[in-house]
Amino acid sequence: MRRCRRCHLPETYETIEFDEDGVCNICRSTEHKKVIDWGARKELLDALVAKYRDKSDYDCIVPFSGGKDSTFQLYYLMKEYKLKPLVVRFNHGFMRPTVRQNAERTLKALGADFLEFTPNWKLVKRVMLEAFKRKTDFCWHCHSGIYTYPLQVAIRYNVPLIFWGEPLAEISHYYDYLNDEIEYEDEAKFNMCRNLGITAEDMHGMINSPEDPVDRRDFIPYTYPALKELKRIQYCSVCLGSFIPWDYTKNSEIIKRELGWETDELEGVPSEINGHGEKIECFMQGPRDYIKYMKRGYSRSTQITAFHVRNGRMTPEQALPYVMNEGKRPPSLDVLLGYLGISEDEFNTIVRATEVSPYHHDYSRTDEAPRLWDQDLWHKEGGAGDDEASRPRVFLKVV
Ligand SMILES: [Zn+2]
Ligand SMILES: [Zn+2]
Repeated sequence: MRRCRRCHLPETYETIEFDEDGVCNICRSTEHKKVIDWGARKELLDALVAKYRDKSDYDCIVPFSGGKDSTFQLYYLMKEYKLKPLVVRFNHGFMRPTVRQNAERTLKALGADFLEFTPNWKLVKRVMLEAFKRKTDFCWHCHSGIYTYPLQVAIRYNVPLIFWGEPLAEISHYYDYLNDEIEYEDEAKFNMCRNLGITAEDMHGMINSPEDPVDRRDFIPYTYPALKELKRIQYCSVCLGSFIPWDYTKNSEIIKRELGWETDELEGVPSEINGHGEKIECFMQGPRDYIKYMKRGYSRSTQITAFHVRNGRMTPEQALPYVMNEGKRPPSLDVLLGYLGISEDEFNTIVRATEVSPYHHDYSRTDEAPRLWDQDLWHKEGGAGDDEASRPRVFLKVV
């Protein structure tokens, strides 16, 4: 596979292009981050905050997982601007113990009101299987819910300003620093980057059947609010990372120091490259990254070392061994297979059909990543109280 000469991202990476020097467009875009007039951006942020402060019960909504980005974003808004936020968490069902503790510590230390919503697990399982069969991405419920639910809360509480964290310009080329774009988290971005192009209504239609009916109302938490409703509260939904430079390593050092935030192991990734604690909030991250590897021949270690290279914290030569050594089977795949109610062969068959050329996965590989310390603590299917009838029914038809 062709790879960027600098960050090693391969040609199977979404939105990637290479220039005549063999350097990718994401590397070029982040070079531009340095020439952005961040002073002027900060003034925009000052004006935005001034416009919305003290106008309703809360100054803003902060969607929050307890991961490094949302923790920094909450910390920054409360310390730098003394805002009174309503902190909202959509619980995807895969929260790891360290992240729960981090979140509790953070909320206590900062003193913020916190609202958590956990959707119906039986529906979550069915939706996971459907999204996996169609898009080999079982996270539809998470990636829809974390963006839709906080907006619904904004409407309900009449709080127009919503602050998200990291800008997409860091990780893809849907948006970039070069065009000097402020990233608005609007419905266009949601449909392009977040929900796999499947709306809540689509998903309901996909899994609802006479034999196995699904209550329409179960999809309300995943529904993007009507524009009319959003306009009524004069919503403004933005990424904090559009206004201040977003440096994962620095942000994470700040929250460790100021809030006692702790990092954790990340499945399949050597801990020495993930000191900043990327993706440690979700215990299904291992299988997610593994699927990406099976389809595209790169995974989380490559993405992390690519950041380090772009930010001058690693040389391309130092990154290479990590790039070459990933793709091991995560032990947590067994937990996922239990949720989906399918065998590993069925899993492989579905993933194999979506392989991105020219990558070709070697299915005879048997090397396993080390098991995470907390795997025994997670919910497993098939235990007490889990009846066979509530399992998702599998109709395997791979096209
Ligand atoms: Zn690159
Ligand atoms: Zn997720």
